[in-house]
Amino acid sequence: MKPISTESCLNTKDNTFSPEDFLLDLEKLINIDSGRGAAEGATRVGLMLAEPLVKRGWIIERHNLSPNIGECIVLKNRQAERFDALLLGHVDTVFPAGESAERPFYRDEERAYGPGVYDMKQGCLAMVHSLLAMSPQTNEALNIAVIFNTDEEISSVYSTPLIKSYAERSDYAFVFEPSMKNGGRCIERKGILRSTFQFEGKACHSALMLTDDGRSAIAEMGYWIAALSELNSKETGTSVNPGIVKGGKAANIVADFAELTIDVRIKTLEEQDKVLAKLAELGEHARSVGIIVTEVDRRTRPPWMPDERTKRYAEHLCELSLSMGIPFEIRVGWGASDGNTAANCGAITVDALGPGGDYAHTADEYMLLDDVEPNIRFFHAVLEDLAQLKAAQ
Ligand SMILES: [Zn+2]
Repeated sequence: MKPISTESCLNTKDNTFSPEDFLLDLEKLINIDSGRGAAEGATRVGLMLAEPLVKRGWIIERHNLSPNIGECIVLKNRQAERFDALLLGHVDTVFPAGESAERPFYRDEERAYGPGVYDMKQGCLAMVHSLLAMSPQTNEALNIAVIFNTDEEISSVYSTPLIKSYAERSDYAFVFEPSMKNGGRCIERKGILRSTFQFEGKACHSALMLTDDGRSAIAEMGYWIAALSELNSKETGTSVNPGIVKGGKAANIVADFAELTIDVRIKTLEEQDKVLAKLAELGEHARSVGIIVTEVDRRTRPPWMPDERTKRYAEHLCELSLSMGIPFEIRVGWGASDGNTAANCGAITVDALGPGGDYAHTADEYMLLDDVEPNIRFFHAVLEDLAQLKAAQ
């Protein structure tokens, strides 16, 4: 890995927030590819974000979890057994290497654009600014850990154990995914089950399929799709999307191979169990018709339902925010995040704390410039408030 040149260092200055400096820093972060095929860039982005905190004496750990992704960075204001606050942000984007050169950072009067400008390099940078603005007393009162992970956009396949190991030892977790419109913050997200199944049948001439021993992998896959679609329900919120299908060589050949990738969204663990039971039942069906099914990939995020403590805390934050004249609404997030993991580890978790905008995962992605300062001010207040809550305990 290349050393980080001073030229690439962030402009962040202690205790002073300058919107212009924020945008200059954001530009540097956006113009480094950190998505698919850009592991080194992801490491660089994490280290650049860490630098101002390291300069202030924070402890840094670099976790090389897989050659497929950049290093995940952990920062702590001191060594501790337990943490009052765990702050989570991901520096990876959905975009492939080369994207930043193709459409680098730019801005107009209202918005900033570029890969990851809204999901979520702006959130990571806002997090750092909020921490730099912390009073010495608050820094003394709270044990804080920060994780910048590099694989969130692939369901945190490598970093989840690391995130869990900190979330299990943290009272509160704060996730800096972008806020939603009108100050929408999030304490609830659906879970994900994403699986790829390969179906192996037996080929024969299509004219002989009733007499010969041909077994169609595609027909069985179709049976699975139809059966799984029955789980779709507006009432329970469960959805099953057969997102990718492959298979077949010619119309007159009974297909001996097919592949299906499903993306399931569930609100509760009971619903997740229902889906898993259905998959087990379908496995039985495949066996009964002589099709071998292998699950070659599975990625999961547990559903995140807020408990009473979390609901109470969110209401408290709502009051705090409104008292500062900053909008705050509690919403259900439409995707999953590392917040799902943190909340399932028992930490009181609040997500969508980053500056807002729109069009994540597309070339139209933007961040609202006016959203930056209030988000940093708000989270700074959350930290000061948390120190007081802790002192009162
Ligand atoms: Zn994100």
